[in-house]
Amino acid sequence: MSTEPVPYRVRISNRARHVNLRLTVQEGLVVVIPRGFDLKHIPSILQKRKQWILAGLGRLAVQTPLGSCPLPEQLVLPLLGTWTVVYGERGEKPNQLLIPTTERAPSIAHLKSWLAHQGRLHLIPRLQQISHATGLTFTQATVRGQKTRWGSCSRQHHISLNYQLLFLTSDLVHYVLVHELCHTHEMNHSPRFWSLVASYLPDHQDYKARLRQSIHLIPGWLHD
Ligand SMILES: [Zn+2]
Repeated sequence: MSTEPVPYRVRISNRARHVNLRLTVQEGLVVVIPRGFDLKHIPSILQKRKQWILAGLGRLAVQTPLGSCPLPEQLVLPLLGTWTVVYGERGEKPNQLLIPTTERAPSIAHLKSWLAHQGRLHLIPRLQQISHATGLTFTQATVRGQKTRWGSCSRQHHISLNYQLLFLTSDLVHYVLVHELCHTHEMNHSPRFWSLVASYLPDHQDYKARLRQSIHLIPGWLHD
């Protein structure tokens, strides 16, 4: 048997009465302890449960698809700040996103719908502000998780924004919002369109280049 210490995480639970060990694909070994429990007892508990832990980790390794991206422990969202993600807990806490499950697929679904909700709260008011400031009007705005674009604008001037914008810095978000609003006047990427964009953002070429590079800021689990 391996003598390597198994990495683990500690989670303090208000409801736990005893120490509980949990093994999940997302997090590996989690030691759930009651509030006030002395952390120095954990290594001896793990030693006693070693057989169970190693057998469980072996089973998980088989279940984990190769290359699957780990679920986030933190979301760094420039417009909203940093959020800690806690799995397997319900409720609400400031700057903590509590996901009521530890299963991968439902966790990702929950994260995506939370991002869409935050997108509605934070992106649409910005779009409205820029619309007021520029006089470029839209009829409707929605936030979704498109695979390939940051935003779009229909002939009916319905603007659709990608919640993945929340992972970008606010100046890049601003560029995308201006870009989509300019499509309410020019439904293409003609020179006339770009000169309209340039009238609001003279350095829009820089933004275009930075936006292309920002794709690496989008976490891999979003592509599940
Ligand atoms: Zn465009």
